[in-house]
Amino acid sequence: MIEIRFHGRGGQGAVTAVKILASAIHLEGKFTQAIPMYGTERRGAPVVAFCRIDDKRIRERDLVHEPDIVVVLDPLLNRSVDVTEGLKAGGLVIVNYPGNIKDTGLAGNFKVAAVDATKIALDVIGRPITNTAILGAFAKVTGLVKLESLAEAVNGELPSRIIASNVETMKRAYEATTAPANASGFRKTDVVKRASTQPLISYSRVVSDWRISHPVIDKNACVGCKRCWVYCPETAISLVDGKAEINYDYCKGCGICNEECLVGAIKMEREEV
Ligand code: SF4
Ligand code: SF4
Repeated sequence: MIEIRFHGRGGQGAVTAVKILASAIHLEGKFTQAIPMYGTERRGAPVVAFCRIDDKRIRERDLVHEPDIVVVLDPLLNRSVDVTEGLKAGGLVIVNYPGNIKDTGLAGNFKVAAVDATKIALDVIGRPITNTAILGAFAKVTGLVKLESLAEAVNGELPSRIIASNVETMKRAYEATTAPANASGFRKTDVVKRASTQPLISYSRVVSDWRISHPVIDKNACVGCKRCWVYCPETAISLVDGKAEINYDYCKGCGICNEECLVGAIKMEREEV
């Protein structure tokens, strides 16, 4: 049995990814499970989901604690979440990462494969929803599922208007994914977990490490309408001298302000990784 754990952030589609993967595996005649884990998560918060694949009926019902494969939909997640926790020796990590594979911050007795899923998703879908890109990478690196099966499975899981772009995203990621490299000599990034004493209420919670991109305000274009201030779910925006200003400690990079600003005064820029 192959056990897989997906790590992502709310809004990146980790739960949908395991459903698509399980559907595709089922189409190929194998047994499979998709286990979503819903909590109080919101857009940008770390989330996990699980998948099992086997040639015979799967009786296990627990969450996956010792995965063979870990899939990471966000390039910065391993700074705050130990994504390789419990990964079997000699296992595999497939990570959304734009730079050199040696610099993912993942190191240990396992292999790492990388693809810039965010860029591919932005180029094709226009949004940083990385689930279908990472599935394309999964198909390429593991050989556990065919790209054609994933494309067929997408039909049942996504709205019809976004199927073609997501299938294209999968194909591009499939082509772009690097071969797995042994991570035993790589440099490891320390995982800095947020203190449990930190208040959970949004207006006082530091969420800056959830971001894969951040908003930048053009003060000359801002007309001070407060629309971004009203819509920001983290109350990260204030008006200073009639212009919008962002407290980046509380900004999770969701991009809602960018979508809501009617004069185009807010642009999203990718975080340095
Ligand atoms: S929505 Fe745009 S114009 Fe209005 S305050 Fe925010 S940045 Fe300025
Ligand atoms: S400032 Fe913009 S990107 Fe940041 S949390 Fe608020 S709405 Fe989201």
